[in-house]
Amino acid sequence: HKNLRLLSTLKLNTTTSSYFKSHLEESAKPYVTPSFVNNTLFQSSSNEWFDLHDPATNKVIAKVPQSTDQELEDAIATADKTFESFKNVSIIKRQQMLFKYVRLLRENHDRLASVIVLEQGKTFDDAKGDVLRGLQVAEYACSITTELLGTNLEVSTDMETKMIREPIGVVGSICPFNFPAMIPLWTIPLVIATGNTTVVKPSERVPGATMIIAELAKEAGVPPGVINIIHGKHKTVNKIIKDPRIKAVTFVGSNRAGEYIYETANALGKRVQANLGAKNHMIVLPDADKKQAISGIIGSAFGAAGQRCMAISVLVTVGDDAHSWIMPEIVAAAKALRVGSGFDPKSELGPVISKQALSRAESIIEQSVSAGKATLAIDGRGYRPEGFPEGYFIGPTILENVALDAPCYTEEIFAPILSVVNVPTLSDAIKLVNANPYGNGVSLFTTNGIHAKKFERNIDVGQVGINVPIPVPLPMFGFTGSRGSFLGDLNFYGKAGLWFMTKPKTITALWKTSLINENEGESVTSM
Ligand code: NAD
Repeated sequence: HKNLRLLSTLKLNTTTSSYFKSHLEESAKPYVTPSFVNNTLFQSSSNEWFDLHDPATNKVIAKVPQSTDQELEDAIATADKTFESFKNVSIIKRQQMLFKYVRLLRENHDRLASVIVLEQGKTFDDAKGDVLRGLQVAEYACSITTELLGTNLEVSTDMETKMIREPIGVVGSICPFNFPAMIPLWTIPLVIATGNTTVVKPSERVPGATMIIAELAKEAGVPPGVINIIHGKHKTVNKIIKDPRIKAVTFVGSNRAGEYIYETANALGKRVQANLGAKNHMIVLPDADKKQAISGIIGSAFGAAGQRCMAISVLVTVGDDAHSWIMPEIVAAAKALRVGSGFDPKSELGPVISKQALSRAESIIEQSVSAGKATLAIDGRGYRPEGFPEGYFIGPTILENVALDAPCYTEEIFAPILSVVNVPTLSDAIKLVNANPYGNGVSLFTTNGIHAKKFERNIDVGQVGINVPIPVPLPMFGFTGSRGSFLGDLNFYGKAGLWFMTKPKTITALWKTSLINENEGESVTSM
């Protein structure tokens, strides 16, 4: 579509550009997604390719390969071999690479965001946020020289124990479609910082940003073989989780895939961190600041078309009063949102990722309403922005009087659909959230500190917001989703992320100074 011209204003001077450049013309042919092994971009020799559709137009814009057996083998063998040398590159040199990497990611911020809009459909502002959250992890990784300090204690006279952390080896990464830049960047900078190597499989629906991220690492001076990108679906995933040369697996995506990946890789003795699905609730008390609460609900339920793992998909109003002032306000605010192509600067939300995702979301609405388990306050089904008749669009949708066994409550929908539930008290709201199998994020809106304190203490969710709708901590903390939203022990990024990629080693040494005193001259001269 014509707004692709935006891409032409961007810096297009590196190797991946040619893959995207062809797309500047209306009549462009689909570009071929390259792979990246040993710092070399190449076209797969596969005879199995997936079509990548622009979600705003349904047009096929790219071809993504199922990497061949040989290509998967080459990527893993390269990462494994490179680990032997990269683990010995000094931490100061790796830190210098990261400083340069941060600068390059920042310089290519708009370019990365454009590819995300093109392939994933989110608005340009949302795409810039996607890149920013990844860039912040790269900035955090620059602090490796202080974050990875060991410990040391003199445990008895002349005897010291020190604990250091050593890199773990090849890290395999399997990524989802909804944050094409942020999620590869949750791990790639930490791989560089800790002296590991990696094989990354981007989502087959959004590989473009990962290719640029890999290319920029090369430009930052990261040696060949440290970062390797391969493509595909189950076959690639199975290779990553089963190959003995891969020591740790990071996964972000749905429970269905994540539980299988966690169980399989774990049973083979690998370390696994798996961030999974979510059903995030926002609780609004009658004393909440109205403006703050309404803007929090609208941004977090409908932003990025509801396809953030931390999107709010359930609003819990507490008491009749809160319910009656909130409903008309959110209905009006949701109706005013502009749905359209991500390249249109006026759009506030774009399409969902695929035709299947759209029909699944529409059918969940239908099932919930026809079973009498929810009523429609706004119905966004069937909405098509002008000029985009084939896009996978759905307007903001609000379901009221939602029963707890309605599909719109029990399923993670991943679309701009908000279910509203009303409960009498804060204790009821806490009980409701704690009974939900997921534990990714939750937030409370109130002006009362005592209520906030009670909530903070009793809520069983890993990421808690108070007057903050999407409480994702900055990278010096960690992404601390819990219960059904996380499998593993060490979370992504922050100290836990560094610990995930390193293994502790203790060294206990005894140097008896009394020996020197007995044969003073001799010991000194023999040194
Ligand atoms: P997905 O599980 O369909 O795909 C994720 C990755 O797994 C992809 O690379 C895909 O190729 C692969 N995959 C898919 N099905 C597989 C299977 N059966 N076996 C092996 N591999 C498989 O997830 P998605 O649709 O790309 O992403 C959306 C999901 O990710 C949502 O559930 C969302 O909540 C979750 N998510 C969670 C977080 C978090 O931090 N908790 C962040 C982003 C997304």
